[in-house]
Amino acid sequence: MKSDKIAIITGGSSGIGKAVALKFASIGVSVAILDLCMEAEQNVVKDINSNNGKAIFIQCDVSNEDDVKRSIDDVVAHYGRLDYAYNNAGIGGDFAKVENYSTDNWDKVIAINLRGVFLSMKYEIPHILKQGKGAIVNCASLLSTVAYENDSAYVASKFGVLGLTKNAAIEYAKSGLRINAISPGFTDTPMVNNGDAEKMKYLAEKHPIGRLGTPEEIAEGVIWLCSDNASFAIGMNLVMDGGYTVI
Ligand code: NAD
Repeated sequence: MKSDKIAIITGGSSGIGKAVALKFASIGVSVAILDLCMEAEQNVVKDINSNNGKAIFIQCDVSNEDDVKRSIDDVVAHYGRLDYAYNNAGIGGDFAKVENYSTDNWDKVIAINLRGVFLSMKYEIPHILKQGKGAIVNCASLLSTVAYENDSAYVASKFGVLGLTKNAAIEYAKSGLRINAISPGFTDTPMVNNGDAEKMKYLAEKHPIGRLGTPEEIAEGVIWLCSDNASFAIGMNLVMDGGYTVI
């Protein structure tokens, strides 16, 4: 990838998004991190800028349309263009059977995980189209293809992200903009790892590889999907899950 390229990463303050921001910067792509949590300003952005990269942070709630529009416009005003977006911001939500699932929590999970991806694409796409070429990767999950008990809002949101990705992908397939999804298996990030060793062991055993993924492994997939090496990938779901969904 050339060094004049610009990437937006939503939810880039932590976990997989942070690894993707660092990876983009390491190959010369300038990054804009959009996140609710200001932490990235103090670490990821500082790290990148002090290592000859370029990064900015914009506080943004991806479920809020005004916030998303303003933030993406600010990125383009700052850098002058947009080439890539990794729409990654997400939350886990409550665990309960459907009949006991809090409706407020359902709405929140869908608003951030699904509406957030829709809004991000809605305001990213016109800017990327101006370049005549670019790529968007949406973060789905291994739970975009299989169920997980007591996790209905999250699973529904991720099945939705995959459907939305495929639909958008064909709408722009001839434009030079490639849109794909990545579906990580359980990955060792703050979303999953709360320090409970028993839980981590249980999750590791559900993956044939015998462990969780690392944010850096998932970042490799995102970077590949954005690269010219993935030039024939349209509406693809890149499942990187240590074999979880194979069995
Ligand atoms: P994480 O909690 O480490 O990072 C999520 C980031 O999203 C945080 O920085 C958080 O501040 C941000 N965020 C949350 N709500 C937001 C909002 N409304 N607006 C803007 N930013 C917001 O989690 P992670 O594991 O790195 O998750 C990243 C993505 O990967 C999520 O979409 C998640 O669903 C997906 N995913 C994670 C796993 C896993 O096992 N960790 C597996 C499959 C998919």
